[in-house]
Amino acid sequence: VSFGYRDVAPDEKTKLVGGVFSNVAKSYDIMNDAMSGGMHRLWKDQFVRRIKPRTGEAFLDMAGGTGDIAFRMAKHGALVTVSDINEDMLAVGMERARKRRIEGLTWLPQNAEQLVFDDRSFDGYTIAFGIRNVTDIPAALCEAHRVLKFGGRFFCLEFSTNVWPGFSDVYDAYSHKLVPQLGKLIAQDEESYRYLIESIRRFPPMPKFAKMIEEAGFTQVKVEPIMGGLVAIHSGWKA
Ligand code: SAM
Repeated sequence: VSFGYRDVAPDEKTKLVGGVFSNVAKSYDIMNDAMSGGMHRLWKDQFVRRIKPRTGEAFLDMAGGTGDIAFRMAKHGALVTVSDINEDMLAVGMERARKRRIEGLTWLPQNAEQLVFDDRSFDGYTIAFGIRNVTDIPAALCEAHRVLKFGGRFFCLEFSTNVWPGFSDVYDAYSHKLVPQLGKLIAQDEESYRYLIESIRRFPPMPKFAKMIEEAGFTQVKVEPIMGGLVAIHSGWKA
């Protein structure tokens, strides 16, 4: 499997990704604003608008990190379990929730590939900028399907492949030169940001990822590109 710019054994990828997020946890939120010019906030707002969570609905926010999606969902009264493989990211999230007085979230370390939850536990499953970091993506998608109730919905927000002509040259120059520099400056960590950029480039394009979601058992799979597919929302339904 690929760890950004090089191939590694699957076990090693999980460990290396763990190291990346432990390194960046403290500066993660500032870096997101710096790298995207604040746009990640708009993409996350759009994601949650698309989900339309309702009061009392049980959601699992997988790879939930520092809580950006869960906080937005909780505003609508959803009951959110935030899970992530990395306890450092969750710790930053719990502290943010405490400061903002956001209550009612459950924080639980979990590997998306193998969840502890019973079958049919949740009304919805969200994963934002998380799936490309998972070593065994088909396993994670099968687990998402398993823990959803019948009629439950799957939503994924992830970087994808922009199809605007000329965009990729500009984007490549920006992402390969500037992002690692920003990582060095703000997070004192160039390598982790090299990984993050390369993992975006290697993630399957929209039709291929949609097919993987179908193969996990979901129906009515839909893709909603944002900014020409720089980012995309994939969704599916457990019939
Ligand atoms: N969802 C948050 C957001 O949108 O800001 C965090 C996204 S962050 C880019 C990716 C997260 O995926 C990290 O917190 C990382 O620890 C988590 N992650 C990576 N592999 C994972 C796995 N196998 N299971 C669960 N979480 C994982």
